[in-house]
Amino acid sequence: MTRAYFSLGSNVGDRGAHLALGVAMMSEDQPYRVSRVFRSEPVGGVAQDDFWNLVLEVTTEESPHVLLARVRATEAAALRTREVRWGPRSLDVDIIWMDNVTCDDEELTVPHPRAFERNFVLVPWRELRADLVSDEDIRRADGAVQVLGTLETLH
Ligand code: ATP
Ligand code: CA
Ligand code: CA
Repeated sequence: MTRAYFSLGSNVGDRGAHLALGVAMMSEDQPYRVSRVFRSEPVGGVAQDDFWNLVLEVTTEESPHVLLARVRATEAAALRTREVRWGPRSLDVDIIWMDNVTCDDEELTVPHPRAFERNFVLVPWRELRADLVSDEDIRRADGAVQVLGTLETLH
């Protein structure tokens, strides 16, 4: 068993519903924990609505590539379309970290190479794993985030 961490974000349609669908599909029947939901301003220069973000921890036996297949199925279930890189999306799921696992090929890089640049990843992730994310990491990363509440109260 290993613990895997996923960053989920939505800025199209019913953002709370998309995050709830993502949590349900990515966790399936495995034990999981979820951060609060945060609002973040888009990064990457494309004008678009604010994102709602959270981080999900799942305890799993699945391999990184099986988890990536689950990520793709989950995004497809949220009817994600890919138009503009870093543009608006109903649901984005990134694998940010797996305990004791690294992976780097054409399809998948774990840990996620941009996780430590982004406060919409670091701030919710720190709620679950304060040992992995320091105050200094958060000072160095980009983007303000604002807490909205828990997924249950928002959805
Ligand atoms: P970013 O990776 O900067 O957050 P993005 O999430 O918008 O950008 P996508 O279009 O969602 O990028 O993903 C493109 C591809 O990235 C995916 O199809 C997947 O094969 C690959 N990828 C590599 N590493 C990861 C990872 N750790 N988690 C999710 N996808 C990954
Ligand atoms: Ca992403
Ligand atoms: Ca992605």
